[in-house]
Amino acid sequence: MNIVIIAVGLLFILILTLVFRALRCVEKPGDTGVIPGLQVDSSGAAERLSGAIQIQTIGYDDISKTDFNAFLEFILYLEKSYPRVHQLMKREIINGYSLLFHWKGKSDNKKPALFCAHIDVVPVEPGTDSEWKYPPYSGSVSEGAVWGRGTQDIKVQVITLLEAAETMISQGLVPERDIYFAFGHDEETRRYDGADKIADHLKKKGVSFEYVLDEGGCVIDNAVAGINRPIAFIGIAEKGFVNIRLSVKGEGGHSSMPPAHTAAGLIARAVFRIESNPLPLTLTVPVLEMFKSLAPAMSFGNRLFLSNLWLFAPLFKKIFSKTASGAAFLRTTTAPTMLEGSGAPNVLPLNASAVVNARILHGDSSASLKTYLEKVISDSSVSIEMSQVYEPSKISPLDSFGMKAVKENIRALWRSAVISPYLVVGGTDARKYEDLTDSVYRFSPYRLDNSEMKQMHGTNEHISMENITDCVKFYMAMFMK
Ligand SMILES: [Zn+2]
Repeated sequence: MNIVIIAVGLLFILILTLVFRALRCVEKPGDTGVIPGLQVDSSGAAERLSGAIQIQTIGYDDISKTDFNAFLEFILYLEKSYPRVHQLMKREIINGYSLLFHWKGKSDNKKPALFCAHIDVVPVEPGTDSEWKYPPYSGSVSEGAVWGRGTQDIKVQVITLLEAAETMISQGLVPERDIYFAFGHDEETRRYDGADKIADHLKKKGVSFEYVLDEGGCVIDNAVAGINRPIAFIGIAEKGFVNIRLSVKGEGGHSSMPPAHTAAGLIARAVFRIESNPLPLTLTVPVLEMFKSLAPAMSFGNRLFLSNLWLFAPLFKKIFSKTASGAAFLRTTTAPTMLEGSGAPNVLPLNASAVVNARILHGDSSASLKTYLEKVISDSSVSIEMSQVYEPSKISPLDSFGMKAVKENIRALWRSAVISPYLVVGGTDARKYEDLTDSVYRFSPYRLDNSEMKQMHGTNEHISMENITDCVKFYMAMFMK
């Protein structure tokens, strides 16, 4: 009898704890920034973005295909389009095609801020040109938007940063602190010639920043089921990246007398073993912080669940990892992408190989991943080589000056938005500036819905005039902080 009473009592305490935590899970109001009351030349900005889209600064993985003259043309186009910026700000061309601007601010006591974007765009998927409503490099200004490759990713950021500066300079306004713009030219191809070189240059100069703001998240409608408000996602960290090449040396020869396992067979087995043994699920700080911010905007049931992850974490991981996008937040992912064997059906391969692209979660590293794969593959004939290695980024603080400034100006532009830190599962140039500040954030100040999100790197990429205007306003407000 006593045991029953104790059990009921404990259960009662447990339920009280769960409910108490859920009730305490409420949104905390924050300060709202001030958008300078300057007139934004929205149609002019759209025209200039249109011109920028028409210059085909396409980055190809096979660098011999890249037309670097387009990048030179782009630099001249910016000079012509933003005369005041080029007159007043110091502009340096880094490594031929990347740009660094420096705008002197009012105060030498305040650390400068760095705003990043990139000039290169991804190619249009061959064969999909005809699916575009307006040709992908037309820069068509139609239906209240600018259309074309690079409108969302991320020429809009290059153009609106310069628009904001040009507008302020024309009014004789000076930013609070020194402002830098860094526009790399090889973000999409993950080379080391653009933002890396800008960062090296800044390091040599001894410049350090209050904060760095690059692309990453944005304001998204209907992003999370159960939240009927836009959500502004600010990337506070990004996963690491590595290409892993698995290879096996074979005997070659005719396929009429094959050994028990050909090199191709051994590679296939290794790939199968990797796919059958995904890395463990882990809840890291950026993902925990994301749900901490989103929970207060959810139903009581969800709040009860998410505010008690101390108890529900295993269940949460199980549910959330059911989708590919959810799993990407919770584990180091491994995606086999390229396979190669012999060149003919009846020839045994001398060499067989596979490429696995991995995105490394915080807590793992390229070295720990290699050890894991060796164990899983468990075949000494398979050699593992890693290239284009980026370890997971640092995790930026949630209470820094830069984070607060971004949040305040989000509130000023999108009053109803839920603001949430998050983990960038792709990659950006932002990580390259990690040695120059503790505060690196990834947020583009525009608002997209789910269908528009799919246009990034896809078909019919476009950006609305309203978004262009908001970007300019957001950056002006940032420069005044
Ligand atoms: Zn981008």
